[in-house]
Amino acid sequence: MIIFSGGTGTPKLLDGLRTVVPESELTVVVNTAEDLEVSGNLISPDLDTVLYLFSDRIDRKKWWGVEGDTFRTHERMKELGIDEGMMIGDLDRATHILRSAFLKEGTGLTEATEKLASLFGVKASVLPMSDAPVSTFVETPDGPMHFQDFWVGKHGEPDILKVDIRGLSEASPSEKVLKALEMDDRVLIGPSNPITSVGPILGLKGMRELLKEKTVVALSPIIGNAPISGPAGKLMGACGLEVSSFGVAEYYRDFLDFFIFDERDSVEESAFESLGCRATRADTLMTSQEKSTELASFVLEIFEELA
Ligand code: GDP
Repeated sequence: MIIFSGGTGTPKLLDGLRTVVPESELTVVVNTAEDLEVSGNLISPDLDTVLYLFSDRIDRKKWWGVEGDTFRTHERMKELGIDEGMMIGDLDRATHILRSAFLKEGTGLTEATEKLASLFGVKASVLPMSDAPVSTFVETPDGPMHFQDFWVGKHGEPDILKVDIRGLSEASPSEKVLKALEMDDRVLIGPSNPITSVGPILGLKGMRELLKEKTVVALSPIIGNAPISGPAGKLMGACGLEVSSFGVAEYYRDFLDFFIFDERDSVEESAFESLGCRATRADTLMTSQEKSTELASFVLEIFEELA
């Protein structure tokens, strides 16, 4: 199975999937449009989270960073007058240093990620969506800013006038992603931010066309009219989408076969027929690993039904 992932909602689902499917059978295509360089190292927040999840190091309270990490280097940088703009743990930084060293040797991001995954003992195939650099900027009344500055630095407060994913129109899916899609018919779009996590993967050259040939199941990251966490609502609104499960399914309508939305939502299953896809309710709120596993088992049942 191929899973499209960002760095919070989908990793929670992966946490369940890895208990019901052999990890080696999971291929995770990860968003890299939030990547950025800090203090000379390339941080790929979503790749890091997925790698830490599969190597049992993720901080499950925050869904970023290494559990029990310390921040001594970050604090020392502050003393030296450098504001890194985001909290970077010492062990987390080791990943960034290593990734950057691999890249400096001329390795592409896909290969650098494979090397990291192998060092971390990860059995799943973790693939950056592309080897081309892509970065998300938001246009605000104060001018454009990198998505991380908006979300981490400014706490998601500025109004968003436009989302600009720089480099995306020239970026293609990596060869490994294309190969994975050639070999597997099942694609799961996890409950991730449709604009800044899934959107960049879908925006890669030819991706939406490719997905039309696949069995695609997607999960909603929205309950009612708000995301469970993060700025998805604000971003969807800025992109002219309705902030609801229906709005998410509408964004995927050209290739979507089956949609899973939350049981707390009032929308009728039949409403999704107008989008040409089937839909069903489930408890999508993953507040524990057990709940992630339950939802993952349900997703497997859906794929079996669709086969
Ligand atoms: P990011 O890279 O950190 O923005 O992470 P993602 O895009 O993967 O995840 C953010 C999205 O995950 C948000 O839109 C949340 O609403 C959604 N999310 C977080 N936890 C859950 C959950 O337990 N269930 C569902 N359905 N969505 C969730």
